[in-house]
Amino acid sequence: MTTFPNIFSLQGETALITGGGTGIGRAIAECMHQAGATIVLTGRRENLLQEQVSRLGDRAHYVVHDVTQLDQAHVLREKAEALVGPVTCLVNNAGIHMKKEAVKTTTQEFQLVLDTHVLGSHALTVEFAPGMMERKHGSILFTASMASLFGIPKVIAYTAAKSAYVGMVKGLATEFSPHGLRVNAIAPGWIDTDMSRQAFAGDPARLEKILARTPTGELGQSSDVGWAAVYLASPAAHFVTGTILPVDGGVSIGF
Ligand code: NDP
Repeated sequence: MTTFPNIFSLQGETALITGGGTGIGRAIAECMHQAGATIVLTGRRENLLQEQVSRLGDRAHYVVHDVTQLDQAHVLREKAEALVGPVTCLVNNAGIHMKKEAVKTTTQEFQLVLDTHVLGSHALTVEFAPGMMERKHGSILFTASMASLFGIPKVIAYTAAKSAYVGMVKGLATEFSPHGLRVNAIAPGWIDTDMSRQAFAGDPARLEKILARTPTGELGQSSDVGWAAVYLASPAAHFVTGTILPVDGGVSIGF
């Protein structure tokens, strides 16, 4: 039997994290790297990826990739594999927030949110999963949201996209389990990142309200999500698939 703490080790694993240059993705990468994984960060802003990779040093790489360029998924896989060999853990984390009244949201705006979250992660999942299946080893993670669990006004496109993750994770988990792959999601509550800071900008009352509804009374840190991702990707979670793990200070309990 593997003993603590090695059961949480990601040594020998190679994780590709989309949106890895900032916030939650950056923390997932740092925590996985600390747990022993080789990591590949992706995103559109090369300067941020470069900075993060040079901060982490050994076992850290990046590939510039826009997840909405659906026909470029194979290019990302080829570039990543040329750098690090087979990817054993895919983290579909890249995302954009959109706050807008439902009746003012255009089809194009809705489409962009769906492309970024749903179709972007689908394109990468189907690109990386066959190799994982061949090797009978792999794990796929999604950064969902507590928005998957609640109705939130003026955030309809984002909520629709994150809710789609719930269905994708459960369906993929059943389809991929016989091939040795696990598929899970983390549903963060409000985490202190650029995305949430923008959402609260100029609206301190909103932040107060959110803190009042969070049992722990605080915003989460990106590393709270990062360590949950390490757990889900590690051998400690070998019997865990198709789950949506809240990391939310208790918001989803409702009180
Ligand atoms: P950030 O804005 O810091 O991170 C979003 C990341 O996604 C950026 O690194 C960005 O990189 C990348 N990204 C956006 N669009 C694209 C694209 N088209 N192609 C490639 N990369 C893209 O916010 P967070 O860290 O907070 O968000 C990370 C994830 O966590 C998102 O999926 C978000 O929905 C989710 N989440 C966040 C919560 C929070 O409270 N902060 C709560 C619940 C979920 P670049 O712009 O360089 O491409």
